[in-house]
Amino acid sequence: MKYYILFGPPGAGKGTQAGAMAERYNLCHISTGELLRSEIAAGTELGKQAKTLIDAGNLVPDEVVESMIEAKFRSTKGVDGFLLDGFPRTIAQAKVLDEMLEKHGESVTACLSIMIPDAMVHERISHRAAIEGRADDARPEIVENRIRTYHAKTEPIIRYYKDAEKYCEIDGTGSITEVHDRIFHLMDRF
Ligand code: ADP
Repeated sequence: MKYYILFGPPGAGKGTQAGAMAERYNLCHISTGELLRSEIAAGTELGKQAKTLIDAGNLVPDEVVESMIEAKFRSTKGVDGFLLDGFPRTIAQAKVLDEMLEKHGESVTACLSIMIPDAMVHERISHRAAIEGRADDARPEIVENRIRTYHAKTEPIIRYYKDAEKYCEIDGTGSITEVHDRIFHLMDRF
């Protein structure tokens, strides 16, 4: 089984690229952001707790996303691997993921990191706010907080996967198909 991590700042285009990647390589795409948004939409207890944190641009607790991921691993059949989008987002989550996989004799295949400059992060999120209507996209101070959280808690993961020699960086600027092509070129190697 392949275990890919799709990494990058908010607005890097992870969600946009994930569908095509999942289809081409028969992967199950797991987006923790989407899973959390469906919990919110369904009005579950977990969703209610997550909503306050997400709407403020903060992360939800590690244990919450870890158990969502584990449940998905367990319930998904018939795929050649997983594409993790939005997870891990802290070093603690990265370590837990390694432990989860190790138990089954598996490991992370690669961390595919889509990189765009901060200025483009702002531009893409305000564009998306108009289209998708996500509450955490709408207010500039919330977007600011997400970018800060990304730099403080999520970016250190780059070092973690570099040390493990699993880190691959992709230029996320340009058209959607240009970025596709760069990603596919890389993934064909694994
Ligand atoms: P984006 O890619 O724009 O940052 P996501 O849809 O991936 O948005 O995530 C939206 C929000 O969901 C995050 O800002 C965070 O509050 C929460 N979230 C998603 N994944 C995680 C995670 N692995 N750990 C903690 N919080 C998460």
